[in-house]
Amino acid sequence: MSQVDDASTAAMERVNWTETSPQTLYNKLQTLAGNLWWSWHPEVLSLFRDLDPVRWRQLDHNPIALLAEMSPEVVAKRAGEMVMYTRINQAHRRLKDYLDDMHSTWGGQNAGVLGSKPVAYFSAEFGIHESVPIYSGGLGVLSGDHIKSASGLGVPLVAIGLFYDQGYFKQHLDSDGYQQQEYLNTKVENLPMEAATGPDGKPITVSIDTRDGRLLAKVWLMHVGRVRLYLLDCDVEGNSPQDRELTARLYGGDRRTRIRQELVLGVGGVKALRSLGITPGCFHLNEGHSAFAPLEVIRARMEEDGLGFDDALREVAQHTVFTTHTPVPAGHDRFDPGLVEEHLGPLRDQLGISHEQLMGLGRVEPQNEHESFCMTVIGLKLSRRANAVSSLHGYVSRRMWAHLWPWRVEEEIPIGHITNGVHVPSWIAHPMQQLFERQLGASWRLQLEEPSVWGKVYAIDPGELWETHHALKSRLLEFVRRRLSRQCRRRNEDEASIEAARSALDPSALTIGFARRFATYKRADLFLRKLDEIAELINDPQRPVQFIFSGKAHPADEGGKSFIKKIANLRRDPRFAGRVVFIEDYDINVARHLVQGVDVWLNNPRRPLEASGTSGMKVVLNGGLNCSILDGWWAEAFNGRNGFAIGNGTQHVDDGITDERDAENLFRVLSEEVVPTFYHRDADGLPSQWIQMMIESIATLASRFSSHRMVVDYVRHSYVPAAGGLSSQMP
Ligand SMILES: *Cc1c(COP(=O)(O)O)cnc(C)c1O
Repeated sequence: MSQVDDASTAAMERVNWTETSPQTLYNKLQTLAGNLWWSWHPEVLSLFRDLDPVRWRQLDHNPIALLAEMSPEVVAKRAGEMVMYTRINQAHRRLKDYLDDMHSTWGGQNAGVLGSKPVAYFSAEFGIHESVPIYSGGLGVLSGDHIKSASGLGVPLVAIGLFYDQGYFKQHLDSDGYQQQEYLNTKVENLPMEAATGPDGKPITVSIDTRDGRLLAKVWLMHVGRVRLYLLDCDVEGNSPQDRELTARLYGGDRRTRIRQELVLGVGGVKALRSLGITPGCFHLNEGHSAFAPLEVIRARMEEDGLGFDDALREVAQHTVFTTHTPVPAGHDRFDPGLVEEHLGPLRDQLGISHEQLMGLGRVEPQNEHESFCMTVIGLKLSRRANAVSSLHGYVSRRMWAHLWPWRVEEEIPIGHITNGVHVPSWIAHPMQQLFERQLGASWRLQLEEPSVWGKVYAIDPGELWETHHALKSRLLEFVRRRLSRQCRRRNEDEASIEAARSALDPSALTIGFARRFATYKRADLFLRKLDEIAELINDPQRPVQFIFSGKAHPADEGGKSFIKKIANLRRDPRFAGRVVFIEDYDINVARHLVQGVDVWLNNPRRPLEASGTSGMKVVLNGGLNCSILDGWWAEAFNGRNGFAIGNGTQHVDDGITDERDAENLFRVLSEEVVPTFYHRDADGLPSQWIQMMIESIATLASRFSSHRMVVDYVRHSYVPAAGGLSSQMP
C-alpha cells in the first residue's frame, strides 16, 4: 500500500470511527455473520477472528456465537484498537452489492430460463463451514461447494436439506486408539438460520402422512451468499418424542429412521417449496436420498392438471436431474416392501397406483418380489437426465445399471457424467490467493472457470510459489502439533508425551497427507502392507518422509475403526513416533489445514470404487501434488507431469491380489519418483522439478476441477434443458 493510500485509509478510519455508533457497527457484523458468504471471504473472516482470536478458535470459528459473547461496546472498543471500522463498513457494503447484483452474473446471462423457475437442489447433507455441522464427508462438502458456486455464478437455485441438531459426530480416540463418538447439541440460536416463512409471513410447517400417522417438520432458512438453503427439522410439537429425534443425527439410526428421513427430505422438501411459493423449473436430486421427491411432484401435477400417473411421470421426469455418487453396492439405499408401504402408502393411494407398481419403480426387475426397493433405481427411473461424477464413474455406472435398459447397448445407457469440482475461494489459502492475484491479475477471482486465466500460472515465479507453499506448510505443522498435544492431554498422558507432541514432525521433511472417511474401499491401511519398507523411507536421514492421517469411520463400521486404531497406534513404535501422526475429528477445518499445507496428497482407493474424490482437487489449488491410484477424478486428471500415479489403472478380479500389487506400486512410486524429485535441489536450493510439477498441476487442473466449471456444466447440460430451454448433450 502506498503512503497516500495509508493516509487516506487512516483518515477514513477516523471518520468511520466517530460516525458509526457501537450498535450500528455491531449490527453490521451481525448482518455479515448471518450470511455464510463470509466463510469464503478471508478479509471478512479475519474481521471476526481479530475480535478475539482465542475465542474464535474455541468456538469453532462461529461468528454468531462469538458476537453473542460480546456487547456492542466491547466490539466497538476492540474494533477501534484493531483499526477495523473501515474494513467492517467495506465488507458490509460488499455483501449488499453482491446480493443486489444478480443480473450481471454469468447466470444472469446464461441461465435466463431459470430466472422465475429456479433449480431445486436436494441433498441429505451440506458441508459449508465447520461451524454448521450438517455434513459428514465428501457428499456434503460437494453440495456445499455446489451451492457456493451457484451463488457466485448467479445461477437461480434454492437448496433443500435436513437440519441435524446433533450433526454427524465428534471423534476422539481412546488410549487404545479406538474411535469414540460423541454427539453435540448444536445451539440453534448460534447458527445463521431463521424460521422460513411463506408468502403470508407465517413460519412454515409441512406434514406428511404415513400409514402409521402424520409426520411434521418445520423449515429453517440459511443464506449461503445468493442461495437460500431450506432445512427441514422434525423437532416440532405435534410429533411423537421419537419422531422429534428423527432428524437429530446424520446417517444414524436403523432402516426405518433412514426411510423416514428420506421421506421428509424428498416429499417434505417438495411440500416446503410449495408452501414457500417457489415453483422450480428443475429438480436436482443429488444422490438417491431425496429420490422420493418426484413422487410428490407427480401427485401435484395429477391434482392440478388432471393428468394420469404415466403422463405426469413423463412430464416430471423431464424436469428432474439425478446424480449418482457411488459404485459401492452398499452405498445404495434399499428398503423392504413393508417400510415402503408404511411410508409411501398414503401418497401411493393418491397417485392411484398399486403397491406392486410403486415397488416396481424401485426395482431393476419390476416384478421381482425378491428385489428390495432401491433409491438409485427410482432416481434413475424418475429422471430424464442422470449423471455420474467422473468420466470413469460414468463407465462404471452405465455397466452397473445396464440391466435397467436391457434393450440398449452399454454405450447408450442414459447416464452421462459431470465430474465433481471444488469451490476455489473456500479451499485456497489466503496467501496463495494473494500470490495468484499478484501474478495473474485481480480478475482471476471473477473468472475461476476460465482456463486461460489459470494458464498464466506458467509465468509464476518459482521461488515465490515455493516460499508461499512453505509458509502454509509451517502453518499446518503448527496446527498439527497443537492438535496432537491437545489429544494427549485429553487422554491424560504424561508431560513427556505432550512435549513430544509439541515437537512432532519436521518442517523440512517431505510431508504426505491422507485424510478422508475411513471407508474400507479407501484402504487407509494399504501402506501397512509395506510397513518395513515405509519405515526405511521415513527414517532416511538425508531424505526423511512423514505422514499425517485423519478421518472418521462410520459408527457402525468396525473395519474402518480397526484401520484407524492400527494407524493411530503406530505412534507407539519408535520407528514411526513423531513421524506418522493421526489427527482426530476430521472436519472441514482439519481438511482445510491439511490440503493447504501438505507436499503430497495420497489417495489409494480400490479402483474403480472412488466415484470421484474431491480432496485432491483442494490440494491442487494450494500447490500440493497428488499421488493417487488412477481412479475417480485422477483417472482423467493425471497427464504424466502434474502429479504421480500409483499403478497403471488396472485391477485384478481378486481384491487380495489387487491390494498387494497396489501396495507395491505405492512403495515404488514413493521411493523412486516422489522422494527423489522432492529432494532434488538446484543451485539455488530450490526443488525446481518439483516446483514445475506444482505449476503444471495448478495450470492444468485448477479450473477443470473447480465447482464453477461443474455448475456451468450442470446448467448447460442438465438444468437449462430440464427447465425447457435449449438442450445440449452431456459428455
Ligand atoms: C473434501 C472433503 C471430503 C471428501 O474427500 P474425498 O477425497 O472425496 O474422500 C471429506 N470430508 C471433508 C471434511 C472434506 O473437506
